[in-house]
Formats: sequence, structure tokens, C-alpha cells
Amino acid sequence: MENAYVAPVVGAEIPDGHVAIEGNRIASVGAGPYQGEADRIDGRGCLVTPGLVNTHHHLYQWASQGIAPDGTLFEWLVASYPVWARMDAEVVHGAATAGLAWLALSGCSTSTDHHYVFPKGRGDLFAAEIQAAAEVGLRFHPCRGSMDRGRSLGGLPPDEVVETLDEILAETEAAVRKYHDPLFDSMLRVAVAPCSPFSVSGDLMRQAAALARDLNVRLHTHGAETLDEDDHCKEQFGMLPVEYLESLGWLGPDVWIAHSVHLTDADIARFAETGTGTAHCPSSNGRLGAGIARVSELLRAGATVGLGVDGPGSAEFIPLAGEIRQAMLMQRARYGPQALTARQALEMATLGGARCLGRENEIGSLEPGKLADVAVWRVDGPYAAAADPIVALGYGQTPPLARLIVNGVTVVEDGDLRTVSGEAAGAAGARAHARLLRS
Ligand SMILES: [Zn+2]
Repeated sequence: MENAYVAPVVGAEIPDGHVAIEGNRIASVGAGPYQGEADRIDGRGCLVTPGLVNTHHHLYQWASQGIAPDGTLFEWLVASYPVWARMDAEVVHGAATAGLAWLALSGCSTSTDHHYVFPKGRGDLFAAEIQAAAEVGLRFHPCRGSMDRGRSLGGLPPDEVVETLDEILAETEAAVRKYHDPLFDSMLRVAVAPCSPFSVSGDLMRQAAALARDLNVRLHTHGAETLDEDDHCKEQFGMLPVEYLESLGWLGPDVWIAHSVHLTDADIARFAETGTGTAHCPSSNGRLGAGIARVSELLRAGATVGLGVDGPGSAEFIPLAGEIRQAMLMQRARYGPQALTARQALEMATLGGARCLGRENEIGSLEPGKLADVAVWRVDGPYAAAADPIVALGYGQTPPLARLIVNGVTVVEDGDLRTVSGEAAGAAGARAHARLLRS
């Protein structure tokens, strides 16, 4: 790829530069054409960035979009649980195929997923989403979620969608042992991910943290998302969500937490001191009226922040690149126009996400030796009227995706998927939706 505007995220931007790939690694990033032997792609009119990293998702929710469209988080969850209780492996595979295809088309090369509903006798749901990710061709970090505190124990979910603590620990360990690949160019890493303070026991949180640290994998959960959650934590545990998480051993450089909207000044300082990451999901926070996360303040404190789309149940049909814009707008609405620049938002969407996943040495920026995860955006045509290509990417409607390369392989070319058919992926999502609502 040459003759393009290259934004490596680390180091200076290169107005007329190249990115060369050898195998699954970046071989060279620099000014002018590449001097070595290579197949050449003309990047004239294009902006080249690292592939985007999605740090929070619930792929299965593709099949349950549009529930409680005006509800709070708790109202939406209570309406959704009985629907989710009916999902099976076929629903998960179809929903994950559609969701991952949509992510790829919005420039995402690495995605997490947080799957925490495992109704009994419905097939291997975790395997179903892993298969979908391999088919679409994205780097995948599925998080083995869980819930063990149903309504009878003071939790929010109905008892029929929760598992026992012993089942959860055994299944989570089995998933890590079966699928987790710790190697540098890993396409699949598993994290341990009990769902949230209002659906999980303190015992599970503690034992899950110990398990993850034994297995040397990362920890993920939801935290500090809404004021209802604050009330729940004060009432049940006598403290706020982040204090509660810390009391359970859940702050640290191996932890990233979805949302972190309602943080105190002390929480922000603790996130920065402990290296705890945040998966910022601005559209979901807006859809559920959760609030505006204190992202600019987290960044200023030196904390790690990545971007996430959250599940399509609470942020319908959201492209990851669009969250760059959404994050900027929400920070500016709260803190003023200098609160978050397009470059800072792009860094969150790439290197910030890689840091959340502990992969900042492998992905998240365009540097020789790193993995070849690259997004190429068309910033000519109507986008050429913005002189700054990063403004063209961040401020308005997201420009077309000319190419997405994951691990050296082209997954999207000229806006079309090359791995699975885009049409088939959309149809799989629609079938999953119909199956879930019918069953
Ligand atoms: Zn979530």
C-alpha cells in the first residue's frame, strides 16, 4: 500500500507514505514508495490506520434488537432475559456471523465478545461464536461470561438463566484450556468474565479472578454503568461499584471494565494507578440513558481507555468506526470542544483497545514487527473537502472502507467482505432473530 496518508497512531503521520506487509507482519512504514519487493496497492485518496479494536460486545444480541427501546438498563435487561433464555447454538452462530461481518465492514480487525447467558441443553454456545469469528476472519477475544446470582439470591436475572458457581468455574477453565492461544500472533484469546455486580456473587468474582490469574488470562466485567447499579451496590454491599470491585481483587493491569460511567475522582485515580482499563461504549450509554463517561478525565489521569460497541441489543446495529465520532461528541457535549480530539478518539479505537486486551506490543499501531491488522479508508470523493484525513474519518459519516487486512489477509475489499458473503451474513442474523423470537 503506497501513495496514501498513513496514520500509524504511534509516531508522526505520513502524508504520502507506504505500509508494507510480509506474511502476517508489518515490514515497513514510511514516506514515499516501499523500496523492497512487494505486490503493490495504490493508496491514492486513502487514509491508512491500524485496524480498529472492539473492547466490548455481546454478539448474541444481534438476534434481540429493539427490545424495551425506551427502557433503562435494568428495565431493558428484565425484558431481555426471558428472550435470551431461549437462545441456542444456532442463534449464537447466526447472530455472531452477522455481528462480526458488520464489525469488519466498519474497520474492526480485533473484537472481544462477552457471552454470559448459557441456558442448559442448548448446544455449545461458546464454540458457535468462535466458529463464526474464524469464518469471518477477525482476531477474536471471546470472554467466558457468567451469572450465578439470580432473583432468589437478590440478583436481577431470573433464576433460569443463571448457572452454579461450580459449573461456571469448571466451564470457564475448560474454555480457556481448549481455545486460548497465548502466542504473539494469536487469533484467539479467552478472558474470564463474570457479568456484573448485580448478577454475580462476590464468591464468583473472587474465585474467577484467582482462576484467571492461575491461567494467565485477562479479566473482564461490567461496572459503574448506571445510577441504579450504584444504588444496588450501596444497598447490597455497602459501597459503590468500583470500591466493591477493588474489594474483590478486580482492579489491576489484567482487568478491563465495560462502561465505567459513574466514577468518583478517587475511582479515576485508582484506575490510573492500577492500570485498570475501560471499554467505553458511548452509543449504548446514550441509548440506555446511562450517562456520559468521564473519558477525558480518565485519559488525562493516564488510564487505559478503549472503545466498544456493546451488544446490538442496547446499541442497535452500531459500526465500530462510528463510535469514534460518538465518543468525541459526547465528551464535547459534557466538557467542551477540546475534550476529545479525533486523533485521541482514533487512538482509543486502536492502541487504547489493544492495551485493554494486553496486546499493545502486537496490534493497535502501524509499526514494523507488529501484526498486519490494517484499515484503509477512502477519503477522496466527498471526503476530500476536508483537508485533514483524520477529520474526514472522525467528524462526519464514516468514509467507505477500501480494505481491511487482518493478520495479513484481506477480509474486506472495496466495501465487500472477501471471507464470507455479506448478504449471507446478514441473512444469518435475520434467521437468528426469527428463530429466537419464534422459539
Ligand atoms: Zn455489555
